[in-house]
This record gives sequence, C-alpha cells and structure tokens, in this order.
Amino acid sequence: MANPSSTVSYTANLLKYMSLDQKGTAMAEYIWIDSFGGVRSKSKTILKVPDDGKINLADLPEWNFDGSSTGQAPGGDSDIYLRPVAIFPDPMRGDPNILVLCECWDPDGTPNKYNHRHEAAKLMETHKAQEPWFGLEQEYTLLDMSDRPYGWPVNGYPGPQGPYYCGVGTGKVFCRDIVEAHYKACLNAGVKISGTNAEVMPAQWEFQVGPCDGIEMGDHLWIARFLLHRIAEEFGAKISFHPKPIPGDWNGAGLHSNFSSADMRKPGGMKFIEAAIKKLELRHKEHIAVYGEDNTLRLTGRHETGSIDTFSYGVADRGASVRIPRECGSKGFGYFEDRRPASNADPYQITGIMMETMFGGLDSEE
Ligand code: ADP
Ligand code: MN
Ligand code: MN
Ligand code: MN
Repeated sequence: MANPSSTVSYTANLLKYMSLDQKGTAMAEYIWIDSFGGVRSKSKTILKVPDDGKINLADLPEWNFDGSSTGQAPGGDSDIYLRPVAIFPDPMRGDPNILVLCECWDPDGTPNKYNHRHEAAKLMETHKAQEPWFGLEQEYTLLDMSDRPYGWPVNGYPGPQGPYYCGVGTGKVFCRDIVEAHYKACLNAGVKISGTNAEVMPAQWEFQVGPCDGIEMGDHLWIARFLLHRIAEEFGAKISFHPKPIPGDWNGAGLHSNFSSADMRKPGGMKFIEAAIKKLELRHKEHIAVYGEDNTLRLTGRHETGSIDTFSYGVADRGASVRIPRECGSKGFGYFEDRRPASNADPYQITGIMMETMFGGLDSEE
C-alpha cells in the first residue's frame, strides 16, 4: 500500500517480488518522447527470451499508443506507432528485462512531428566519415511536490550562490541520494554517463553523457533522462529541465554540447574547430530556434551565459556562446563546447543541426 500521507510509494515492499522467477519471459519497457519534451513509457511482455539470453531489435514488435493523450495526434486518428531503435538493460527490474527506446511514426508512414531522431540519424549517416563525437552536460533542478526547489525554505530563499557548486555538506547540497542512484542506474544500463556534479544553484545538478558517436548521443541522453525521472519517483522529487526555474540571481540550466570530428581531434585540429565555429556563427538564429523553449530567460549574458542575440566565442570563456576549453586551446586540437542549448532542448535536434551546419544538409555531397 502506498503511504496515504504522501505520494511516495513504499518501494521497499516491492523488493520481495523483484526476485520472483519470470518463467522465461522478459518485461520490455517501451519508451518514447512526447510533445512536451517529456518521456512516456509502457510495458510489454516478451513471451520467450532467446536461448542466448539476448533480446535483439528483431525480436521486438512494433507497438502503438494513443497519441491524442500525449499531444502527438488528433483525437480522430490517434494511433501512433512505436518502432524500437535501441535496447538497454533495465536497472530497475534487472535481467533479463529491458528498456526499449522507440521512434514515433504516424499512421501514414511518416515520422511523427516530435520524432526528431529520424532526421538526425540520416544526418549522422550522411556524415559518418567525420566520425562525430558528442558529449552533453545535462543540468536539471530537483523540485518538491509544491514545485519549490528541493530543500529550499518554504518562505524565502537560501543564501546567495557560492557554496553550492560541487558542494559537499548539509545545507550545500540536496538529494544526493537521487544523484547517486541515477549514476549507478545509468552505468548498469550501459548509458555512457561520464560524471556528475552539484551545480551553482542549490538543488540543481548536472550529469554528463559522452563522448558518444553520432546518433548514440541522443539515444543515451534520452535514456538517462528517463532513468532520472523514473528514479526520482521513488524519492518523491520532481525533475525540472526548465532553463530558468527561478528568476533573479540564480543560475539557469543548460545542455552544453561538446563536439569533435576526427580532424579536430588530431594535431593541427584547431583550424577545423575554428572553421566549424565560423559556420555556427552564420546560423546563430537557426540554432537558437531549436536549442530549447524559454532559453531567452537563460541566455542573458549573465550567470555564465552568452547573449541570445549575438554569437561569440573564446578560449576558456564561460560568457561566450561557444567555448574552446583551455587545454584544447594550448594543445591546438581537441573539441569545442556549444554553451547555448537549454536544459530542455532535444539532443537529436541539437546534434542534428550541428552536423547540418558544419558539414551540410542531407542533399549535400560530402
Ligand atoms: P565543463 O568544464 O564544461 O563543465 P564537463 O566535464 O562537465 O565540462 O563536460 C565535458 C563533456 O565533454 C563531457 O560530456 C565529455 O564527454 C565531453 N567530451 C570530452 N572530450 C570530447 C571530445 N573529444 N569530443 C566531444 N566531446 C567530448
Ligand atoms: Mn560541466
Ligand atoms: Mn554545468
Ligand atoms: Mn560546460
């Protein structure tokens, strides 16, 4: 029974069922992206796990859902199809159960309006000779049930920013248990999480995913987001990806997007990095258009951001649109960081437009 006085369920009671024999079946959690930038999921029984214990994409049927309930389809013609595209071990249910990331397709055989993966995957395929690597830094804020940042005083504010970034100690960080659980779960699921840190605003955190090859970036980031929402359920916290959850002198939340191509990673790579940044500058507006909702509230030129209206770049400059890390600046090769994307942006749109701007669209010869 759920605790009637709170919305937190007694997860511990679930434990005694978790080890029950599943009689050769597996639970597959089909996961997709909705029209609000959130994740949805539902469960399907896979009747027979293959003898080698490995479930492949070919073993997973297409499925469907009611798109009128997720803002993805009109009521009259509401079936949206789920096409499995990537499989991850399920860290909540354990072996042999799996998480299944899906693309959404309309009944007429075209990608759903919110399926940004399809286009991004084509761009990655077209430009695969570039060997694109991405690394995304996902910032987010933990909220309590009344949508207040977790651990903040009910009436009033915590002390000003300063002690919280990479903080250690009571009153400096909140909900480290969620962060730790999420980190472990990502590693267990094979998500390429590369680190975590507490952020500048209290109750704000970051995790990094990458480097990932091409389309794998969006896939891994979306599964990491799913796991964060899913795990936070068990702790009674909400996850906000809003880029400016608290107005005023509180840092916003971004999705810094680091990138390198094979050429950029080799000695002499700086000229390729600079050429790419020049191209990004020419399409600043087009990038901002897909770099997340409400990003105007965050990209003010203050709180470690560049201005939303003008493009700028520099070595080690955290107030620029694009930063070349100090170490890459001195070595003369490596990668660069696009600091513009908001925390709520779709990684498929970010990585897709970066490829298009740097290396050309789908009709270009490469
Ligand atoms: P910051 O100093 O901006 O906070 P982080 O350490 O949080 O940087 O994140 C750096 C990100 O850059 C990580 O996601 C990492 O995977 C990614 N990264 C590192 N090297 C490369 C590379 N050569 N190409 C693309 N991404 C990279
Ligand atoms: Mn970071
Ligand atoms: Mn950060
Ligand atoms: Mn960064």
